[in-house]
Amino acid sequence: MWDYLPEYEQEKADLLDAVTTVFESGQLILGKSVQGFEAEFAAYHGIAHCAGVDNGTNAVKLGLEALGVGPGDEVITVSNTAAPTVVAIDGAGATPVFVDIREDDYLMDTDQVAGAITPRTKALLPVHLYGQCVDLAPLERLAAEHGLAILEDCAQAHGARRNGRMAGTVGDAAAFSFYPTKVLGGYGDGGAIVTDDESVDRNVRQLRYYGMGKRYYVVRTPGHNSRLDEVQAEILRRKLRRLDAYVAGRRAVARRYAEGLGDLTAPGGLTLPVVAEGNEHVYYLYVVRHPRRDEIIERLERYDISLNISYPWPVHTMTGFAELGYAKGSLPVTERLADEIFSLPMYPSLPLDRQDKVISALREVITDL
Ligand SMILES: *Cc1c(COP(=O)(O)O)cnc(C)c1O
Repeated sequence: MWDYLPEYEQEKADLLDAVTTVFESGQLILGKSVQGFEAEFAAYHGIAHCAGVDNGTNAVKLGLEALGVGPGDEVITVSNTAAPTVVAIDGAGATPVFVDIREDDYLMDTDQVAGAITPRTKALLPVHLYGQCVDLAPLERLAAEHGLAILEDCAQAHGARRNGRMAGTVGDAAAFSFYPTKVLGGYGDGGAIVTDDESVDRNVRQLRYYGMGKRYYVVRTPGHNSRLDEVQAEILRRKLRRLDAYVAGRRAVARRYAEGLGDLTAPGGLTLPVVAEGNEHVYYLYVVRHPRRDEIIERLERYDISLNISYPWPVHTMTGFAELGYAKGSLPVTERLADEIFSLPMYPSLPLDRQDKVISALREVITDL
């Protein structure tokens, strides 16, 4: 499904040079590479501040905490997401509140958000899932009207744009993951929070550093040790220079899939990703949908290709979140989607013959259903 080794082969000299650079720098924690990456990642977004953290889950958690979200507060998000989005809300002590998703692009149904706002609502947490941006304009209006913060979960949307605005530059702050499979991925864990708000950035820097305002002196609790590692930062710095090329590579794979499978789409049959108006998709995942998904996957077992389901269980149906009290059927579009989606292999260095193998196997299986 995903293999970093072809990319490693191509980029080996640069990546190993990154490691050597850090090892020879004389500074292993929050040194020149973290500072350099933070400045360059902020500049890529045209935003004032970036603070590196240890992973994407903690980027969401610290982002919420930095925006003042804590116990007793509600955060509105979606159940159709990677579970860590919700784990992070829970980790900040707040209560996740779910709205359903749209039928076409599987993103937050922003029309449902107003109805989910209560006096306890503190923040909106849209997830730019699969590499495509949620339309944030309606959320900006609601946030202004009700005094709410917006934290964007950009873990799957590095470099994506909607109506010309880049993911991560619209909300009060945005959380990124650099987990190896992501559009910008390290060789280990990593994350970041970007913001134009100086006080939010300061809060994140304190939170990631034991809650200290200066060395050895705690100014806020709960503090964390959530620093971005210096080696990962230097690797990410090198890879950031190639981010636009990675995105172009993903789009080329998406085009090949669309060309190879487009004629199989039909109402009640195969659905390929729908790119919403004004969106520039970065294809973290290439998610297709078919009502007979399980049969298709079973038949594909004869072929040497791997598929994935992202995600097989909506978060609100997991036993770990049973206490939130969402009954089955409460988010019908999300629940139906989880039964019908599967993802095709997608990464920029995916060999052409693998892409073609996926296309021909799917063609055979679907025409044969
Ligand atoms: C990957 C991911 C996260 C978590 O990032 P980690 O670096 O794995 O902790 C959070 N939200 C979404 C939408 C993700 O895809």
